[in-house]
Amino acid sequence: MKCPICRQELTDMKYKPFCSKRCADIDLGNWFNGAYAIPVEEMDEEDIRELNEALENQLYETKKEEQ
Ligand SMILES: [Zn+2]
Repeated sequence: MKCPICRQELTDMKYKPFCSKRCADIDLGNWFNGAYAIPVEEMDEEDIRELNEALENQLYETKKEEQ
């Protein structure tokens, strides 16, 4: 089974069907941002990295607001 986000073979079934929490979060972010209008196949590593960074910033901002 391969992760639909980064296409790596799953090693941890905890986040099935994703390989990690990171990819699960990216998927969540994709839905949230409506990025699924763009086929995942057309995303290159740079796009994924940017998306992940945006998501991490979001999470960081959320955490800051909670404190
Ligand atoms: Zn993955």
